[in-house]
Amino acid sequence: MTALAGVVGRPVRTDLPVRVGLDVGGTKIDAVAVDDDGLVLARTRLPSGFGADEVVANAASAVARVLGTPAPGSSPALVPRSVGVGIPGVVDPVTGRVSHAVNLGFADVAFADALSRLVGVPVAVENDVNAAALGTWHALGLRGSMAYLNLGTGLAAGIVVDGVLSRGSRGAVGEIGHVPVDPAGVLCTCGQRGCLETVASGTAAARLWPTDVPHPARALFTAADHGDPAAVAARTVLADGVAAAVRLLVLTVDVETIVVGGGLSALGEPLLEQVRASLGRAGHASPFVASLDLPSRVVLLPAGAPPVAAVGAAMAGAPVDPSVVAVG
Ligand SMILES: [Zn+2]
Repeated sequence: MTALAGVVGRPVRTDLPVRVGLDVGGTKIDAVAVDDDGLVLARTRLPSGFGADEVVANAASAVARVLGTPAPGSSPALVPRSVGVGIPGVVDPVTGRVSHAVNLGFADVAFADALSRLVGVPVAVENDVNAAALGTWHALGLRGSMAYLNLGTGLAAGIVVDGVLSRGSRGAVGEIGHVPVDPAGVLCTCGQRGCLETVASGTAAARLWPTDVPHPARALFTAADHGDPAAVAARTVLADGVAAAVRLLVLTVDVETIVVGGGLSALGEPLLEQVRASLGRAGHASPFVASLDLPSRVVLLPAGAPPVAAVGAAMAGAPVDPSVVAVG
């Protein structure tokens, strides 16, 4: 099994079907093969491409590669049971259609059907944040209810209760980045004003602390650590925004744990400290908020965590159906 990238932990039974998960991002596809517990058996990455045909073809290549297929048409080293795909955009998990995937260059594609035809097993698609939420639930061995709060370019959350994703009636569960919190705030990309993600996201950090360096949020935190008053104020706006998201998640769905992930989570403990401090201030002002014990319910996705979006995509993949398992 030395040909398999990223094999971890224990010997891999190549005769048992595995779940394949793809995290299709704007620039790369992160692919994993996992067992039924979500343990990563193999992992590979390759470019996403642009446009529906190219992205679907590259997704199929990622599936073949993570299964250890030595050559086109030959038997894979691992046997695929299902393929799950986490992808940005508006995703319909029932029809498998993906729309408004602007960064990938397609408007409306029957993604699951197209990929399934190429790989020969059922394909399920899921919103990327939802996939990351499910992957986090499995990777951290959580129980009960959890929200995965993604602080990326924007802000969104995925909700998992007892291992099951909450989707709601139209898939909008967790889109809290577009809850307006400031009527006088800046215009959001969604057309509303003062949305939560305009104060708590990577984009917000870049606006609050304009700089040419690649990581504005890190530059902001560094400047604040050095006592720059403007940076301290901007950092507080950002932390209060994330704290507002945490409060919103608890007050609407009362999840036990909020796991902060996404690009901004790379700030690590300094971010968590600021968010907990903001929640603490809210608790000082309100015995009711204090009773919710919010600071202890927020954790960071650990830096060494498995690729949660790909793992979650795998776990969201189509259920077992022996009649469609490819046996090479
Ligand atoms: Zn908005």
